[in-house]
Amino acid sequence: MQSKSSPKLRIAICGGGIGGLTLANALVSPSVHIDVYEAASQFGEIGAGVGLSLRTLRVYEMMGLKEGLESIGGKQPEKTAHLPFRCYRAHTGVAEPFKPPYVGAGPVTVHRAELHNMLFRKLPEAVHVHTAKRLVSYFHPNDPASPVTLRFADDTDATCDVLIGADGIKSVVRAGMLEELARCAEGAGNTREAAELRVNIPPRYSGCTTYRAMYRMSDKTRDISPSQDSAPGELYVGKNRMIIAYPVSQGSARLINVAGTSINPSRAGELHPEPWVAEVDPAEMIEGYRGWAPEVQEILQAVKLEGGHVKKWVVNVVGPLSAFAHGRVALLGDAASAPLAHGMTHFHGAGAGQAVEDAYMLRELLLDPRTTAANAQQALQVYSRLRAPIAEFVQKASYENGLVYSGRPLEGELEKTQVAMAAFVSEDPVEDAKKALAMLYGARL
Ligand SMILES: Cc1cc2nc3c(=O)[nH]c(=O)nc-3n(C[C@H](O)[C@H](O)[C@H](O)COP(=O)(O)OP(=O)(O)OC[C@H]3O[C@@H](n4cnc5c(N)ncnc54)[C@H](O)[C@@H]3O)c2cc1C
Repeated sequence: MQSKSSPKLRIAICGGGIGGLTLANALVSPSVHIDVYEAASQFGEIGAGVGLSLRTLRVYEMMGLKEGLESIGGKQPEKTAHLPFRCYRAHTGVAEPFKPPYVGAGPVTVHRAELHNMLFRKLPEAVHVHTAKRLVSYFHPNDPASPVTLRFADDTDATCDVLIGADGIKSVVRAGMLEELARCAEGAGNTREAAELRVNIPPRYSGCTTYRAMYRMSDKTRDISPSQDSAPGELYVGKNRMIIAYPVSQGSARLINVAGTSINPSRAGELHPEPWVAEVDPAEMIEGYRGWAPEVQEILQAVKLEGGHVKKWVVNVVGPLSAFAHGRVALLGDAASAPLAHGMTHFHGAGAGQAVEDAYMLRELLLDPRTTAANAQQALQVYSRLRAPIAEFVQKASYENGLVYSGRPLEGELEKTQVAMAAFVSEDPVEDAKKALAMLYGARL
């Protein structure tokens, strides 16, 4: 039996975003020591909406966070074949209903900052949180008896048995891990594989640029804002462009999230020169929808009337990564991404959900009483083998959904993927974690 003073594993989580804080909440147990290292001097999130699927909610339920989530996100989504938003083609100047994508269940929409705040507040005291700790590199000896050493920008060091990189799409942990794998490939004489691994270190432009705005609905915009009474939101699509609007806060202080995306697949894979996020004049967003249906003009008008700040996001992605782990180091959430471990496009509202599922599988593997510093490497390999293909499928479905949103008809291969995605959403991620344990240890204790 483990005593409080000698945890069986010391786990460092680098990055305190939605993924890192979900993992920290998930891992709490007297048998592990958890440090969270966050680069920012204060915890915080960018204010924007995020949609959470049935699978994500299931994981939060298993972690005892269902009530906290309901307090900020409303009720459990209904199982439904198609996206329950009101969906229209709108670029010709008239809003015409179109067959919405398959989703399996309507999303619960929450404010990112509220979700992050809830996760932060729920962190037990046993979690050691360190802010203003920007990881710059790590050293990872082969011998599991020797700790992994972390080096921070303030010239300090820390050690751990297992390092989880939850440091987002520009992940330093991913860069370190891919470089390590590339050196191994070179050592085995495989220079081509080494080059391919290094190509995946910098994130690349997805071809999508999103304008996002959030405004607080008042009497002057009540009649032109989406209402949650008849549907969770509205979606308008047109040639290579879409716009979505939905409420993200419950109660009287209703916040409306608006996101308009342009899609140019021919530019996917470029290294994009523009800043990833920049505040812009609302006119820049409005211009993209010139000539679209009056319903779209109303949403844009509401953003303007309420003085909503508009942020332009150049959406970058990572991957595909063939592995999410190497030795005692693993990636989670946007850090992992390959077609997915998720520096993924956002057309299924699935990126944060993938980070949450990553966290749950890691919890089941690392908290298992049989997992120790000596065999943590095998546990992370199982995580990588099971999570990488799931994330890859979600990435593909998300990207193809973007094509449907930009005007391609929902038929043939595109429809097949979306039907499969809807079935996937209805499956239970807890079963994936059980499969992981069975793969590592055979039958559960
Ligand atoms: C336009 C857009 C819309 C989206 N909509 C949805 C949606 O509806 N539903 C959904 O599920 N997902 C959505 N996503 C995706 C989702 O936001 C991300 O997948 C999710 O937030 C990833 O969480 P994360 O914790 O992995 O990374 P992040 O949120 O990026 O967190 C990384 C953390 O690591 C810290 N950090 C970075 N570098 C270091 C370092 N060197 N050392 C220490 N700390 C470091 C950062 O400060 C940050 O706190 C959307 C994304 C975009 C771009």
